[in-house]
Amino acid sequence: MYLLPNTEKQYKANLHTHSTISDGKLTVEELKEKYKAQGYQIMAFTDHEICVDHQDLCDDNFLAITAYEIATTDMNDPERRTYHMNLFSKDPHNTKQVFFHPTHLGKRQHQLELVVCDEHRTREYSTECMNEVIAAANEAGFLVCYNHPSWSLQNYSDYIGLKGLWGVEVANGICLRKGYEDFQPHVFDDLLKAGNRIFPVGADDIHSEEHAFIAFVMIASPSLGYSDVMKALEEGDFYASTGPEIHSLTLEEGILSIRCSDAVQVRVCTQGRRRYVTDCLVNEGPVTSADFDIKRWYRDTADRENAFFRVVVTDDHGHAAYTRAFFRDEVAEAFPFEEPENK
Ligand SMILES: [Zn+2]
Ligand SMILES: [Zn+2]
Repeated sequence: MYLLPNTEKQYKANLHTHSTISDGKLTVEELKEKYKAQGYQIMAFTDHEICVDHQDLCDDNFLAITAYEIATTDMNDPERRTYHMNLFSKDPHNTKQVFFHPTHLGKRQHQLELVVCDEHRTREYSTECMNEVIAAANEAGFLVCYNHPSWSLQNYSDYIGLKGLWGVEVANGICLRKGYEDFQPHVFDDLLKAGNRIFPVGADDIHSEEHAFIAFVMIASPSLGYSDVMKALEEGDFYASTGPEIHSLTLEEGILSIRCSDAVQVRVCTQGRRRYVTDCLVNEGPVTSADFDIKRWYRDTADRENAFFRVVVTDDHGHAAYTRAFFRDEVAEAFPFEEPENK
């Protein structure tokens, strides 16, 4: 079973980008050039509160994803905790914004004419309202990612009730660069344990040059076509990283096999306390592969709801790659039938 599809090529993507259309320093053309030069093939342009179709930037080796970022801030909180979410359009030309109100544009009222929406709706800082926004976004054909919880000053009670999310940022470049803890898989785990089948995203959230090339995703898509790439994203055929690469991820007869770039540790995290870890951190030099027998996890979780495992590959800089979580029911066919208890 190929947990990461065995495509000929994986495409490197930055899914969080601000241009001069909102508060970024670089134009979309400059951003495209900069990222293409570093081997990226995909960028989602996520300017604040404005969804712009950038399909004119696409070429044989570059895909622009139509997207935008929304923010909903608690004005009663002196520290202004806030929900930031990226919305990625499954249709490249669909820029219809949900829960939009002209006040969301702030001083950029001259951009009002660029906004496509059916009705004006304000947003308030509450899980209930955010769930309405997420539901409306899903209905309108967008995948929704929950962004940089640490910079946003949010805690468990702010995010655990969110429903309908597609992804969560486990690594955010600008926030890492500026000293926030936005490399935080525990938020990912919290949401997984609550039964959300969501995916980990790494992205730069670039506003200016110094935020480039910190976190990214590698997408296993059959082609660079818009619908292929969005389908791969929707189905979780990608991983997040701040450095290491995962070349293949397979599961056969209960053996999980990982092939990767030089790693000092390869580990498997589960919904519970069980972990599977290489000991190369202490005893060996770097490894480029690891195989783990995870039948015990499968056997012991027969009665568990939301049992899952996910893989983390760490290199000698402390950079890490994160796969999505694989839930027990999704991988059942890759395990042998009932083993005798005493085996
Ligand atoms: Zn943000
Ligand atoms: Zn942003």
